[in-house]
Amino acid sequence: MPTTTTPTRSGSRTYRVTTYGCQMNVHDSERIGGLLEDAGYVAAAEDTQPDVVVFNTCAVRENADNRLYGNLGHLRPVKDANPGMQIAVGGCLAQKDRGDIVSRAPWVDVVFGTHNIGSLPVLLERARHNARAEVEILESLEVFPSTLPTRRESTYAGWVSISVGCNNTCTFCIVPSLRGKEKDRRPGEILAEVRALVDQGVSEVTLLGQNVNSYGVEFGDRLAFGKLLRACGDIEGLERVRFTSPHPKDFTDDVIAAMAETPNVCHQLHMPLQSGSDRVLKAMRRSYRQDRYLGIIDKVRAAMPDAAITTDIIVGFPGETEEDFQATLDVVRRARFSSAFTFQYSIRPGTPAATMPDQVPKAVVKDRYERLIAVQEEISWAENRRLIGREVEVLVSVGEGRKDSATGRMSGRARDGRLVHFDASGMSVRPGDVVTTVITQAAPHHLIADDLPTDHRFTAAGDAWEAGNRPKLPGVSLGMPGVGLPVGPPPTDDGGACCGGH
Ligand code: SF4
Repeated sequence: MPTTTTPTRSGSRTYRVTTYGCQMNVHDSERIGGLLEDAGYVAAAEDTQPDVVVFNTCAVRENADNRLYGNLGHLRPVKDANPGMQIAVGGCLAQKDRGDIVSRAPWVDVVFGTHNIGSLPVLLERARHNARAEVEILESLEVFPSTLPTRRESTYAGWVSISVGCNNTCTFCIVPSLRGKEKDRRPGEILAEVRALVDQGVSEVTLLGQNVNSYGVEFGDRLAFGKLLRACGDIEGLERVRFTSPHPKDFTDDVIAAMAETPNVCHQLHMPLQSGSDRVLKAMRRSYRQDRYLGIIDKVRAAMPDAAITTDIIVGFPGETEEDFQATLDVVRRARFSSAFTFQYSIRPGTPAATMPDQVPKAVVKDRYERLIAVQEEISWAENRRLIGREVEVLVSVGEGRKDSATGRMSGRARDGRLVHFDASGMSVRPGDVVTTVITQAAPHHLIADDLPTDHRFTAAGDAWEAGNRPKLPGVSLGMPGVGLPVGPPPTDDGGACCGGH
């Protein structure tokens, strides 16, 4: 049941994007917002009904399709009452289900895939004009997505894509079939985008790729990622550089050296383990083994003793025995992760693991999962307690302290990525500013600083936040960035863990 009425001019139409899944999707949603605003749409105010609703979907999380169709079902009567309204579905689930989406929910107007985000405004227009649903899915990327305009969500932190797609074939993962082979962006373009963000006051950048350690494979430079980190070190005003996600298979010593020797690269590493058992890693088709993984951790700690290392772990992969699970616990105890994103394996249709024999019963998976969490929580808490009495530098964020209004604290991230809730009573600290404070308490998932900060630095990002500027970056093409105004919450998501990590 596509839209059949002639709409108002797009200039007066409002939109809202709902995002599911990983950072990749969050950043894609920034692009969707940028594209729609370039086409004349405006973001809908919170309590209003938008003219265009976009779902940027994820095919990886459990029950992703149930959630999408549930939400579409709720919107049906709304759309019936507002015939000019349009609904678009994009992202990984759209790439996977394609025309099935309009068969199951004929009131959807547009379905677009992961390779053609840029077509959305045209597809919306076409659907309105032709009064029928438009489904457009491409098999491979035509334009690197960073050439699209982007409505940045943060004044102080920005995502910058360095690659899209993945050349690996992990048996639990559907990303390669939906995002395609790895495509690397040229270093000059990446650095130009980083500089453009910094020129607008952004002080923290997260380099984003499914497997950042294989960056350069497309243009034949195995050391490209380390070089990129070092080049970020030369950008004046850029205070924090992070990246996600690395892959242990491709992790090379030059990257550790670049992290340790480049002052603005944060000593934080999110390195997916998935399993500590060599047998399970083999079945997952992850071509490193426990020894190699722990060897990388040892080298990182030797070069950066203050590094916070986090991970992703899947429990209950098909064929996993108690002995395999004990091997995972063993690595967890030895690696002393500051935190871990843990997943109970469940079948993802379309992945090789879905049809493997020896699927582990749900009750066993749950039991192992709970035991793993108990071990990791102890470690996280002990590691956080070690920071009591230490001074940390906190980049103040928006929306990370759920209890802030009750406690009167503010929140932000330390350089190593840890969440810090701090007291700044009577001080005019703003999101985007930087404070230095001393840790007084620790919990497994956050730190608390109850004394007033010893230092507060006003920043350009804080000015932009105070001015209420909305972020917007025109497309970055051929290395020539445009400029805009980023605003909003920082990247706080779960480390790209939605596909079970990388
Ligand atoms: S888990 Fe990560 S590395 Fe493995 S196939 Fe998926 S995207 Fe690639």
